[in-house]
Amino acid sequence: MIPRLRTPFSLAALGKALVSADAGSRDRFEKAFAARFGFPHAVSFQYGRSAVYALLKALAWKDREVLMPAYTCAVVAHAIKLSGNQPRFVDSSSDHFNVPSTNWSSVTPETAMAVVTPLFGYPVDRQNTEKAIREASPKTFLLYDMAHGFAVEDRAGSLTQTADAALYGLGIGKHISSLFGGMLLIRNPEVHQAVRAWRDANCRAAPSTRTIKDVLYGAAVWAAFREPLLSCVDKLENDTSLLYRFTDYYYGKAGPSLPDDFLQMPTPFQAALGTIQVGEYEQLEARRWATAQLYEARLAKEGFPLFARHPGATFSHFPLAVAQRQKVVSEMRAQGVQLGILVDYAIPDLPGYETDKAAFPHARFFGKSMVNLPVYPGISVRQVERVCDALCRVRKLSPDAFITAFTPSPAAESESRAVIGA
Ligand SMILES: *Cc1c(COP(=O)(O)O)cnc(C)c1O
Repeated sequence: MIPRLRTPFSLAALGKALVSADAGSRDRFEKAFAARFGFPHAVSFQYGRSAVYALLKALAWKDREVLMPAYTCAVVAHAIKLSGNQPRFVDSSSDHFNVPSTNWSSVTPETAMAVVTPLFGYPVDRQNTEKAIREASPKTFLLYDMAHGFAVEDRAGSLTQTADAALYGLGIGKHISSLFGGMLLIRNPEVHQAVRAWRDANCRAAPSTRTIKDVLYGAAVWAAFREPLLSCVDKLENDTSLLYRFTDYYYGKAGPSLPDDFLQMPTPFQAALGTIQVGEYEQLEARRWATAQLYEARLAKEGFPLFARHPGATFSHFPLAVAQRQKVVSEMRAQGVQLGILVDYAIPDLPGYETDKAAFPHARFFGKSMVNLPVYPGISVRQVERVCDALCRVRKLSPDAFITAFTPSPAAESESRAVIGA
């Protein structure tokens, strides 16, 4: 079976991190991460959502409005809401899961923060997005959620070059993973001091048993996405706690919630594991990129509708929209290919967010339609061909399970995009 993902670290890296971890590991990780991704300051956390929560608390905001995509990971909205602030949402465009720059016109001077998200590592239209936000409200804090993007660029360079801060997730399935973890990169020294002081005052050290549990968890997840375990775990996945990281509970789909340990310090072992991968980042990204090129060339030729993009994408995932997701996933499984389902909702449709009455038709469409093809570093050219062959066979059997085209909206058409396959 071809797995939907693999851990970005090896078993050897787990061992190396375990023996090299010491009191200075967290500091070294923060410095290496900030240097690699282009910010002067970094503060690390146990989750990406903890970083969002800490930032809002450190800024001492209460009942302030934070504007964010309706189609993105729900944990960002949970952190905003549970920090005592109010998330408000912006829709995707009809033919792209990212928020088009025109939709940011709903920013007002009351908007304390805007969360710009290059989902799946596909760049957003940075310049027009920032122009729309800055024109409506010059003081709005600009946070980029880079959990999928990492080093994503557009033609003018890094997407975060003028951001106030950038958020990175380090859970399993991210470009770089410390098993659990989050990193906040910050431009302004006073904001940095405030976030660091808040974290050091509010985050407690992990219990001494945490590291050994994490090492075992890391090894289990490493093995769970390789045969012979893969096929068994694939069957058991819905009722095993082995893959806690992949359950609905983890994402808080039953309502706004944060994990019990969300205010724990990341351990030196986690930091050492993350630092190893910062050194390998170029290579990890290049391998994902090469795989995505193969998918784009082959699937465009076969007539699957793909997502337009600028050249600097980093492909945390390879997204495909289909008409009948469960059918596609189960028929692909029968062909020996695991597909990912990552963000299967629009946040305003989740419990706890019902008060937001506006409609988000495009976010809802992507929440119902998206699958992710395997793009992890190490997948072979042969395996990519097998995934594409399987998709073609499944489409032949069940043509209604697929879409043939997006219906473009005026907003989407006004965004200038590189045309794939041209
Ligand atoms: C993973 C992720 C985060 C952070 O998630 P945590 O599980 O809290 O580390 C934030 N935004 C997006 C889009 C993500 O995918």
